[in-house]
Amino acid sequence: MPYVSRDPATNTVLKTFDSWGSDELAGALGNASDVQVTWRQTSFDYRAELMQSLSALLREQNERLARTITLEVGKTIREARAEIEKCALVCDYYALHAAHFLQPEPIDTDAGKSYVDFSPLGVVLAVMPWNFPFWQVMRAAVPAIMAGNACVLKPASNVPQCALSIELLFREAGFPESLFRTLLIEADRVEAAIASPHVRAVTVTGSEAAGRSIAALAGRHLKKCVLELGGSDAFVVLGDADLEFTAQMAISARFQNAGQSCIAAKRFILVPEVADGFIALFKRRVEALKVGLPTDEGTHIGPLAREDLRDQLHAQVLDAVAAGAVPVVGCRPGAGDGFFYEPSILDHAQPGMAICQQELFGPVAAILRAQNEQDALRLANETPFGLGASLWTKDTLRGERLARAMEAGLVFVNGIVKSDPRLPFGGIKNSGFGRELSYHGIREFVNAKTVWVRGLRQRTVERRGQSLH
Ligand code: NAP
Repeated sequence: MPYVSRDPATNTVLKTFDSWGSDELAGALGNASDVQVTWRQTSFDYRAELMQSLSALLREQNERLARTITLEVGKTIREARAEIEKCALVCDYYALHAAHFLQPEPIDTDAGKSYVDFSPLGVVLAVMPWNFPFWQVMRAAVPAIMAGNACVLKPASNVPQCALSIELLFREAGFPESLFRTLLIEADRVEAAIASPHVRAVTVTGSEAAGRSIAALAGRHLKKCVLELGGSDAFVVLGDADLEFTAQMAISARFQNAGQSCIAAKRFILVPEVADGFIALFKRRVEALKVGLPTDEGTHIGPLAREDLRDQLHAQVLDAVAAGAVPVVGCRPGAGDGFFYEPSILDHAQPGMAICQQELFGPVAAILRAQNEQDALRLANETPFGLGASLWTKDTLRGERLARAMEAGLVFVNGIVKSDPRLPFGGIKNSGFGRELSYHGIREFVNAKTVWVRGLRQRTVERRGQSLH
């Protein structure tokens, strides 16, 4: 199958690209490995200078790059601009902090000198999704490259134009050719890439199914692996929450990127005191969302990225309704040739329903009614996923106490779950393992090497046959 770039708002093919054969793949991996040998010897100052050029290019070309995203995945133009700006921020962040994060760490032992040195691993393979086609790639590639690695990208097959634009940006910024390469390979060629002796590690952002499959390959070939997979984040509204504010935030939490975000709130868990009041406020705001062409400045919700994703979402909704969930608003595909879905609320969802056990990857909010606070916590954790969660309460100490009991990699109190270069990002359970961003993310793809050096005093003492202990 070739890589197909298709406008999901109109169901029109924009461009197709042939997939690579084995020789092209082997050549790109070999080149990346060769160039990394020189790159790893460059100074942090030099790498930071190039990273700053990259962030400047992202800002200068924001509008053009945002349009590429909008055309290829249907993201609204305003959200696409924000995605490009966030990519510039992650470049700035690691340009400023990478040297400090990877400073050798001295450790006091019996040695004259002992420390941990953080050296790069080599070529890192990044297998990436389409939903944030720039951000997901940059948040993996930027720290890896600042640490002295090379990075090769296997993009999702519906975003070749975004993926090729990123490769071009790295080159325009002055990075050596082949240090960042986009590999137009199909999913079944990922094993060949992982098996290559040039590839030393793999980072995956994608569905649980892709994660399981790639982690198994990484295990077979003994390559380090980080998995950023799906989520079914709980949005827990407690009895003392500020309902107007919470309902307003619930809109961004669920409907950003037409609901196609791993950390979107997917299950809204309400205690009895607030359930009806919250639903009334939330419904009013959902009804006000404007569905339309993603290129229009006033659009809130564009199409879903692919037809099969829209159909899968609708099948999940129908399944839930058949099992007793109650549609409050929407719950049907939109009109026209594009892959639109109406912003929707489903009340009386139950934890056993597929909409709670699988990812609900589109503009549909599932509401679960809890009996009390403890029950809300139980429902929040009753999911195979463990990515993010948010808690809404005027009592922040109570929020922090409950946060400790949440089975998730990220818990936000009175805020929507979001990624931030300064904070570690990642999940537990079926949402994967490992962390991206912050100090933790850059430490994933380095060799924490112990260096032990015998000291002068030690040598003298040993020569005299004495013990230091
Ligand atoms: P996907 O279908 O799992 O694909 C992700 C990437 O993996 C694509 O490049 C895909 O290539 C490749 N792939 C899929 N199956 C594979 C296999 N068996 N072997 C090797 N490669 C394989 O996910 P998606 O639909 O692109 O993205 C949406 C998913 O990503 C959602 O589950 C979302 O929650 C998750 N996500 C997670 C995070 C996070 O940080 N935790 C962030 C964003 C998205 P093809 O396109 O060629 O199939």
